[in-house]
Parts: sequence; structure tokens; C-alpha cells
Amino acid sequence: MTDLHTDAHTAALDAADPLRGFRDEFLIPRHDGQPMAYFVGNSLGLQPRGARAHVETVLRKWEEDAVEGHFTGEAQWMSYHELVREPLARLVGAKPVEVVAMNTLTVNLHLLMASFYRPTRERPALLIEAGAFPSDRHAAESQVRFHGFDPATDLIEVQPDGPGGLFSMDAIAAEIERHRDRLALVLWPGVQYRTGQAFDLKAIAGLAHAAGAQCGFDLAHAVGNLHLQLHDSGADFAAWCHYKYVNSGPGAVGGAFVHERHAHADLPRFAGWWGHDASSRFRMGPEFHPAPGADGWQLSNPPILAMAPLRASLELFDRAGLPALRAKSRSLTGYLEALIDAGLGDVLEIVTPRDPAQRGCQLSLRVRGGREQGRALFEHLAAHGVLGDWREPDVIRISPAPLYNNHADVLRFARAVAGWRA
Ligand SMILES: *Cc1c(COP(=O)(O)O)cnc(C)c1O
Repeated sequence: MTDLHTDAHTAALDAADPLRGFRDEFLIPRHDGQPMAYFVGNSLGLQPRGARAHVETVLRKWEEDAVEGHFTGEAQWMSYHELVREPLARLVGAKPVEVVAMNTLTVNLHLLMASFYRPTRERPALLIEAGAFPSDRHAAESQVRFHGFDPATDLIEVQPDGPGGLFSMDAIAAEIERHRDRLALVLWPGVQYRTGQAFDLKAIAGLAHAAGAQCGFDLAHAVGNLHLQLHDSGADFAAWCHYKYVNSGPGAVGGAFVHERHAHADLPRFAGWWGHDASSRFRMGPEFHPAPGADGWQLSNPPILAMAPLRASLELFDRAGLPALRAKSRSLTGYLEALIDAGLGDVLEIVTPRDPAQRGCQLSLRVRGGREQGRALFEHLAAHGVLGDWREPDVIRISPAPLYNNHADVLRFARAVAGWRA
């Protein structure tokens, strides 16, 4: 057997990696003259080399054509969001009519809840996970209040029943069952940001629907990470951002999914002119006729400059393909897990599920010995060009991203941890 800890071992794994060429498609920040081991794709993915050209094309069109840029060329701004529709649909396992790139994540959650969280006196409750990302909790709580209900009784927070904040399906099912007659909406993460736990979306949507509730997903940590089958999950809606695993830059335009069965439904919504049916939008009439599908939730004409890097990024996902990305991701994260098990267990405890089907790239690592130890290790790693991210009070999240990380990066992490302990 090859020794897990040797450069020869990682060199062999990386040489056999069919996606190894994609690393060169990214600009990897440097530290002391060499590329960082960058494990923060769950927070801000790296810049694809192709992003600059797409942004410059927009700037040049603005320079040369100004307002005419809306109507000139293959990437005319009038239909710019349509350029990403098909690759985006492939990325999340949806039909083209079900997806749109627009706004940002929390905005999209609100817009979609305006349509899919319709509480009544009999059914006022909105169910989320305890310990949700603060923005999701703020959004959910404020929606409950907005409709005149009381979060103390009508915002249901499912408590984790597993170690380190993990949820069993039984815990989720039991809480849905307990509130089944009062439940209006289940809003659940595809991957929980703190623990890295991935969920069976189809099973959760099935439970929500069986209880008579709607179901929406926050896919911030799942998109570009898991091989999603959003249409088949049966979810009513989903929202996500593109700056994490989708590598489209800080504050990149977000994404939204509305299931095909709602494509022509006359749902209440907060409307804007870009959601108006495209064929009659420019008649500028006073009445709102929604475009079919997810497009009908758009408000404003799209931020073209913010959408340009997304084109470059989606080209890479299309070329790599999700099955290959997922296979490499399992290899990288499995290697990280093996290195921790083989010799770093006295420093780090893996919070994320051990079952690869219940996680994506990320391992959440609790530093034994508490916050001060944790901060010291985190700073040591950063000083050695190994970048993870820190979650209070004692967790370091390490997310090897299969488009640009390799097994050598993972070994660098393990060596840096061992060096700190020594
Ligand atoms: C990253 C993330 C956000 C961030 O929301 P923005 O509206 O994009 O600022 C929200 N929720 C979750 C679960 C996230 O992971």
C-alpha cells in the first residue's frame, strides 16, 4: 500500500484525475510565492480565467454601443439572462423553464416566500432548521411577522438530534408530523452551512407535501457541490447564490427555481416589469401578465456586469460534468477524512457525516480544546498558505472544490495541522 502521507501518493492521485486540467482555468491566490491551498470555495469560489473576458465584453459593448447594447450581438443585454438558462438548468437538474438567474439569495427567498408561504389562521407555521444561516432565519421570521403571525408559535425550528448538530430524517419527519395540521411551508437547506450535512431533498419535499405544506430549499451550499435533481425532488421552489461553489464572484447574481407545475399558475407575487411576459413587455401596458415559469418572478432588468462571470463559470461546469465533479469531490474529501483519521484525530473532530451521500465537499472540523486552540490553529494554517474558514466557537470548515483543488492541497492541510501540533 502507498503511504497516504507521501507526495508520491498525491502525485499519483492527481495524475490520474480526469479533471486535473480545470485547475489551470482558475486564478489561485498566492502566498509566499506559491499557490494557496484554498479551501474556502464554500464561501467565495475562485475566479475562472474566463470571467474577465465576459466582463470586458460587456464593458466594451457599453463603450461602443451604449443603449444599443440591449439589442446587438449574440450576448445582447435584452436576453442576457437567457444565455445562462440552459447551463443553469443542467447544473441544478431542472427544466429550463424552472430556473432563472436574478437578484441575490435572500431577496429570492423573500420573493418566493411571497408566493409559496401563504399562511392562514389554520395553517400559519413555517418550519426551518434550528441553527439556520442567520439570513434565512431573519427572512423566515420576518415573513411570519409580515403576515401578522407570531414567530414564537409559528416559526418552528427543528432541533438537531445527532452529535455536533446533525439531523436524522426521523427528527425532521417527526417535527413535520407534529405540526402537520398547522404547517404552511417547510424551508430547508440542501447542505447545512455549519455542519456540511447534505439532505435528501426528495424525501423532505415528500414529507412536506404529505403534510399539506409547500416546500422550498436554500441551496447556497449545495449548488455546484452536489449533483442536484431539483425537478425530480418535487420542491415547489429553491433559491441559491453563485459566489460559493459556482465561482461567479463576490455578490454575484443569484438563482431561483420554481417547479414546472407552477409555471402557469396564477400565484400571488411581488411583480416587476422583467417578470412580465417578454412578448408584450415593451407594450408598456399597465396590467401584469407573468412570463411562464421562474422568469415570471423577475423584477428588474438584470445586472449584466454581475451576470457576466456566471457565463464563464457555467461553461466550466458543463465541460466537467457533475458526475465527474462529484466523483472527484468524494475522492478529495475522502482523502481529507482519511488523513484526519490516520493521525490528526487528537486535534480535530469531524462534525460532518461520515457517509459520503450525506455530505458534499465540506468537512466541518471541531478543534479539540476549545476556541483559543481553534483560533491558534486557524491562524497557523493561514500563515502557511492553507486557507479554510472559521465558524464560532471552535469549527474550521475545509472544502476541497473539485474544479480547482487537488490531493496535494489536501496533504498540505494535513501537514500544516501536524506542524502546528508538533
Ligand atoms: C451564503 C448564504 C447566504 C447568504 O445570503 P445572501 O443573500 O447571498 O447574502 C444565505 N443563506 C445561506 C444558507 C448561505 O449559505
